Amino acid sequence: MDSPNDRFSASRSRRAIPASLIKIAFGRSANRCAFPECSPVMLDNGVPLLEIAFISSVSAGGPRYSPSLTPAEQNSAGNIIILCPTHHRLVDANPEIFTAEELVNIRDAHYERVHRALSTEQKRTTSSRLADLLEIWAQSRETGSEEYWQRLFSDHPEAFSLALEGRAYTLSSKCYVGGKSIGNTGGNVLDFLAQHSGNVALVEIKTPTTKLLATQKYRGNVYAPSRELAGSTVQALEYRHSLISNLPTLAFQTPGLRATQPMGVIIIGDLGQEEMSEDGRRSFELYRSSFRDLKIMTYDELFGGLQMLVDILRD
Ligand SMILES: [Zn+2]
Repeated sequence: MDSPNDRFSASRSRRAIPASLIKIAFGRSANRCAFPECSPVMLDNGVPLLEIAFISSVSAGGPRYSPSLTPAEQNSAGNIIILCPTHHRLVDANPEIFTAEELVNIRDAHYERVHRALSTEQKRTTSSRLADLLEIWAQSRETGSEEYWQRLFSDHPEAFSLALEGRAYTLSSKCYVGGKSIGNTGGNVLDFLAQHSGNVALVEIKTPTTKLLATQKYRGNVYAPSRELAGSTVQALEYRHSLISNLPTLAFQTPGLRATQPMGVIIIGDLGQEEMSEDGRRSFELYRSSFRDLKIMTYDELFGGLQMLVDILRD
């Protein structure tokens, strides 16, 4: 039996475990007892009945007490295991069976099970969101309404992930990027602004049905970009220029805005649907590769890349 003094030192040591470590331990345990198949006992308020058990007791003579542990080691994450009261009593009453090493194994196996279950769930959710998106793409590939695509990207900001080279970002739609006259008119409103660490991308969208090239050959084996493509290119550059010129004011209005070297992104057209000769295709590639601060990506490239991601996640 613990002497009153032992109980005091145990409870004092318990308090010495940082609350953050306890929180992490409960999180890694998914609020379950580390014993496999142990069904959680719930309190009336729905909180699971769990205890923090020491692997090596903090009191001399307690279960699995190890004199070689420093107080810091005793109160470390490595020395605790989350158990239900029944299993807590069981392991403390039978330290010769439930040795420190055995408890570490039980705990780490539980952590591993929780981790695996969570990552499977996350993979499933991510890939099912992307799969939904691909389904929408398959069905609305021929939709020519810009509002439709505007709404789709607002609802599924992850659709831009490949256009933004896989960097994490936050997306805002219909952003003012400066350029208003003194009468508060004529401002530049961008479709989407993607803020990632240290920089922004300015995203302009057209539709998949927007033509990329002018129908008629320009001359010899050369094709000109369509009016829409040429227009949106200049517009994206104009937005970029406007953002850079108005950055001090905009940054003042939008704390956290960082735009070291803003990149313009245009999502336009569908190479899978637009009929293009070899010459036409070369003209398009030459045109879009000539911009330094601007990336032109087609809808089928964007969704084709997402399809690859879904296939990878599925494996
Ligand atoms: Zn249990």
